Amino acid sequence: MKKKALSSDCKRFRLMLTLELAVMLPAAVLLYVNFRQLHVIKRDKNVEATIHRDFFQMLTISEKRINEKAYTMAEEVRGLFPSPDSDSDAEKKRRLDLILSNSPWLAHVFLFDVERGFLFRTQPQKMTSREEHEKLSKLFEGWFGLDGKMMLEGMHKRSRPFFCHTNQVERAGRDAFITHVFFSLPQLPKDRVVLGGLSFDPDYLKQTFFPEMLDELIARKATEEGGNRLAMMVYPVESEGGDTNKVLAASAGWSEGKPEVSRNLDEVFRGLALGIKFQGTSVEAIARRWAIQGFLTLGVLSLAMIGGLTLTYHTVNKELALARLKSDFVSNVSHELRTPLALIRLYAETLELGRIKTQEKAEGYYRIIRKESERLTALINNILDFSRIEAGAKEYDFRETDIADLVRNTLDAYRFQIEQQGFAFEQNIDSSIPPVHVDREAIARALVNLVNNALKYSADEKFLCVKLYRANGALKIEVIDRGIGITRREQSKIFEKFYRTGDPLVHNTKGSGLGLALVRHITVAHGGEVAVESTPGKGSKFTLSLPLVKATQPVASITA
Ligand code: ADP
Repeated sequence: MKKKALSSDCKRFRLMLTLELAVMLPAAVLLYVNFRQLHVIKRDKNVEATIHRDFFQMLTISEKRINEKAYTMAEEVRGLFPSPDSDSDAEKKRRLDLILSNSPWLAHVFLFDVERGFLFRTQPQKMTSREEHEKLSKLFEGWFGLDGKMMLEGMHKRSRPFFCHTNQVERAGRDAFITHVFFSLPQLPKDRVVLGGLSFDPDYLKQTFFPEMLDELIARKATEEGGNRLAMMVYPVESEGGDTNKVLAASAGWSEGKPEVSRNLDEVFRGLALGIKFQGTSVEAIARRWAIQGFLTLGVLSLAMIGGLTLTYHTVNKELALARLKSDFVSNVSHELRTPLALIRLYAETLELGRIKTQEKAEGYYRIIRKESERLTALINNILDFSRIEAGAKEYDFRETDIADLVRNTLDAYRFQIEQQGFAFEQNIDSSIPPVHVDREAIARALVNLVNNALKYSADEKFLCVKLYRANGALKIEVIDRGIGITRREQSKIFEKFYRTGDPLVHNTKGSGLGLALVRHITVAHGGEVAVESTPGKGSKFTLSLPLVKATQPVASITA
């Protein structure tokens, strides 16, 4: 009994464990992950915003550095400019040409003096395009003549005496971007309208200035922070960075694609824009990867929970079915105990009162009393055996036995009952089977259970056949009837404890649902097996197969 209590405790524990591990745990993790996901989404959005803010900052700093560099270069040239008053025109030209030859990155240098005229010098190798020379010198002379004074006033108000202007010129048949820097000359009275100027060569800007600048800016950023590698590019504002053909210059690792963040340059390089992105990936792709990872985790957890729910559903269902079977068992057993007891009491009292006159009738009554008490004994034996097995206390007494004798004797005890119930009875027993090691009582009980079932579950055709024979190194006991049969679906269940089929005849017949569970336990304990072949409405054949060699030890308990 202790063991049984232990086993139901164990079951409850198992159920709780299943519930906790398969449902509660994934549910809790799911809740937690969901909760975290909300934070992560918020965090990801913040991270995205931070990245963009970082990019903006980087672009602002970059523009400053680019301008700084351009101004420094212009400043150097400004210092080399001839003095408008002390030098002759020829000397001024010579010095301007010297500047050009020392600074190949310049396309033009020019000096405007409202009193002494305009000098516009072009890098000799760039003179192939006279058109550019003519156009620009005319443009600037006219412009400075008109606005020169105003421009100078503006410059004097600034921290640096520079004024920048950008436009397009033609290079190798294509539009090229050119920047001009105008400046006042040092040590001149404020009212003198004298302007110096230079033009950055478009080819130099495209091939040297910007690529070097971008790589330097990225390298500086990488050493400052590390992390994902960046790429930058410069492009004309009107192309919006989408047309890779129009990109003016790009850092290493740009490959292609639109910039993540861009900034229109002001001041020195107005008309150009600076773009930035990650090398080989985008903020969107990074965010998408995070989102996919999050959803995958949620998916896996949801699946685990569904699995857990299904498992719990099955376990609970199984437990419920077992509870139902147990309660059926209790009502069946009490009914089975009460009926024979009532009969025994009734017939014993009648006999006691001496009202039975004929000897024949009295014998009939005695027979009924014996039969009913036998039924009671069989039932109580079954229940006792069952509870011993459940408690793991069932012991078998294996002895060398003449199995043919055992089967014959068991059947003889039942022959009268079988025939009285109107059954055609056949028995086919092979007497040549050598002695086997079995528990006689247990094997007899198994056989009696099978025979009883055949008698109980036969309706129209009452036929019973018991065979004992040898096949494939095993001995076989077959019990065949032509009764109600068992559906294929139920054939696997009838050996479970308490299980009874749904047939109306079964419902109206007394039974505990323990018989076949015992038969299976006994057979397995003998190292054998029990099988059923049955067709509903046609009958059933139960076959016990026992090994002819020495039997094994008994098994511990009946499994539901
Ligand atoms: P019980 O007979 O006490 O109900 P058993 O364990 O002996 O319990 O049998 C379990 C169930 O198997 C029976 O209730 C019945 O539905 C079915 N069964 C057993 N033997 C037969 C048979 N020979 N023919 C039809 N059904 C059977």
